[in-house]
Amino acid sequence: MPDLRTVATHCPYCALQCGTRLSRERAGVTVRPSDFSVNNGGLCQKGWTAPALLDTPDRLRNPMVRGADGRLTAVDWDTALDVVAGGLRRIRDEHGPDAVGVFGGGGLTNEKAYLLGKFARLALGTSQIDYNGRFCMSSAAAAGTAAFGLDRGLPFPVTDLASADVVLLAGANPAETMPPLMQHLRHAELVVIDPRTTATAEQAALHLQPAPGTDLALVLGLLHIAVVDGWTDTDYVRARTTGFDAAWQRALAWWPERVERVTGVAVSAQRTAVRMLAEAERAYVLTGRGAEQHSKGVDTVSGFVNLALALGLPGTEGSGYGCLTGQGNGQGGREHGQKADQLPGYRMITDPAAREHVAGVWGVPPESLPGPGRSAYELLDALGTAGGPRALLVFGSNPAVSAPNAGHITERLSSLDLLVVADFVPSETARMADVVLPVTQWAEEDGTMTNLEGRVLRRRRLQVPPRHARSDLEVLHGLATRLGEPGHRYPTAPREVFDELRRASRGGRADYSGITYERLDNGEALHWPCPGPEHPGTPRLFLDGFAHPDGRARFAAVDHRDPAETPSEDFPLRATTGRVLAQYQSGAQTRRVPDLNAAAPESFVEIHPDTADRAGLSDGGLARVSSARGHTVARVRLVGTMRTDTVFLPFHFPDQARANLITGDALDPRSRMPEFKVSAVRIQPEVTR
Ligand code: SF4
Repeated sequence: MPDLRTVATHCPYCALQCGTRLSRERAGVTVRPSDFSVNNGGLCQKGWTAPALLDTPDRLRNPMVRGADGRLTAVDWDTALDVVAGGLRRIRDEHGPDAVGVFGGGGLTNEKAYLLGKFARLALGTSQIDYNGRFCMSSAAAAGTAAFGLDRGLPFPVTDLASADVVLLAGANPAETMPPLMQHLRHAELVVIDPRTTATAEQAALHLQPAPGTDLALVLGLLHIAVVDGWTDTDYVRARTTGFDAAWQRALAWWPERVERVTGVAVSAQRTAVRMLAEAERAYVLTGRGAEQHSKGVDTVSGFVNLALALGLPGTEGSGYGCLTGQGNGQGGREHGQKADQLPGYRMITDPAAREHVAGVWGVPPESLPGPGRSAYELLDALGTAGGPRALLVFGSNPAVSAPNAGHITERLSSLDLLVVADFVPSETARMADVVLPVTQWAEEDGTMTNLEGRVLRRRRLQVPPRHARSDLEVLHGLATRLGEPGHRYPTAPREVFDELRRASRGGRADYSGITYERLDNGEALHWPCPGPEHPGTPRLFLDGFAHPDGRARFAAVDHRDPAETPSEDFPLRATTGRVLAQYQSGAQTRRVPDLNAAAPESFVEIHPDTADRAGLSDGGLARVSSARGHTVARVRLVGTMRTDTVFLPFHFPDQARANLITGDALDPRSRMPEFKVSAVRIQPEVTR
């Protein structure tokens, strides 16, 4: 029987985690925005329509196993879990533990992310675990850790932005991706860096429109101007940072006219941007995926951190640097051990002290824990190859649509001996699976999420799930016990998992040990680190010093380089990808919400009219956009504000409309972030039969 009641919870989508009041009424579930600090009574279209997810006719209702006839057939849970465990055991026995891979998601609750990492390392004994957050914010995480000694998306509450005079947004489009955030920016003058005139750029006092892949040259130029024109905060740089001279040596070569030639951004606009930031009493530099998703994503974000440090912003009252994390639990998802190189508490898996601590909590010897595994793209690319995983378990992700070079990745997924997908809808990846496990979704489960400001939030259950859906925690318990693990190591109650997560995180970079369900349920606003039951949490980091042993932030000596692909005779344009207001990530959820699908029903490609004209394309027609890897088909939208050398596609759509059919596999050497934001392409009319 469904409950008839109301719960305070949070939106199932993005990292803002807007607060909602969700009610089960006779007519169905209704949602209202709460006065939670980040949304303050606001929601976007996705939040307003989220209840439709609960009743989607497409809901997976039974476990399914692919039979000899190639069809997925409904089975009971014991049969499904027996098939999975038997397959995993056989592959592990024949090929070793690393022949089994695990692919997690940045939308999983903290409890699921934690238990998934533990399951991979203990029950499977594999090093081969990573997650789709690698495709999201890994460059900012690496740059932030290097600069500040600690990575938390926003090291200050979102509400601090409301007092800013100037905010620079680099490669971020919150007016579409997280609209309620914009209320906190309404008093600020915005400087937007984006190759497109996005909804955010339209609200900007100044829009800098560099060619895709040249953001690092631009920000080196901004640092150059800041130094040469005397805008740097020399007292701050001397007292609170190290490494300025080496960073400046690189920026020295990026004088404004050279930057204009490389990026297309006028010298006057470069100077205005720096002056606006430097003259502001309170200023912030915020980066998003546009700065991160490059084969030089870490260096690009470091360039923006350098600029913020030179102007004396990070770690001060009312100013700072931050990264706008994307996925719902993009922050928590990277802290609890589903990353290839990390253990819970945001600890490095190669650190002997970290291994000893976590192994102690798990009750195993430290030497039994595997070492680091492959990063997300490398893991997917290795599937079915000699030495690569032969089985893959996917939780909360849809890599057939969201991974770069998606045609190739789809082939790799098809080559597996065993593909298992846990999801609540038949995503494109689930449709390829040998076993599909139907799991619960947001309003059917308890747990915690950590939003973009490092605040830990309670997700609350409103209603019982459909009869055959199980929580991911129950799935992991069922598989672990079938693989010979003691059941008590895999609790199924979220609160019990969270209590263990707290112990595992104690003393780590992301310390949750003082955060409890009781404190959260009592309304406390707890941002990690929170190292004890009396600790009030840490809404603002770095005010008394950065997290490096000497308390100083680090400049990074970075230099511009070309993207992996530059335009050529065959592929003369640059394609860049991103999101639209009414869809979310791979679209597996939002494409099933009627109002959202009506608002954004199909893929499109934004093209400047002159560029379209040269290619024989007209508004509303179908275009084939091709790169060296494949092609995608999208509806032409003529946009006069586009650069003539650039086209834009959203990445939410399936099948031949997948934008990731054209994106490439060049990876950042440190974060292993793929270069989603620049592909060399050509465009032509799509001939339909
Ligand atoms: Fe949900 Fe993000 Fe929209 Fe808020 S901004 S309603 S969290 S999708």
